[in-house]
Amino acid sequence: MYKCLKCGNTYKFIGTVKEKGNAFIYQNSDNKKDMDSLTWAFLTSDNRWKSSHNVSRCFYCKSTKIVQI
Ligand SMILES: [Zn+2]
Repeated sequence: MYKCLKCGNTYKFIGTVKEKGNAFIYQNSDNKKDMDSLTWAFLTSDNRWKSSHNVSRCFYCKSTKIVQI
């Protein structure tokens, strides 16, 4: 879990994600009204999935002072 030290946000952040592995991919083309909703999702198909993520900024106040809680 991450938390913004400036505004207290724990919900949405800006960062990068890298993922690599075999997956089952599902698409949902009916879901275009809300830009924030999921339009696709995937499930890992084996346990060799590799992913890493890096949180760089708070989405709301743009602060870079993010801590792990
Ligand atoms: Zn913030």
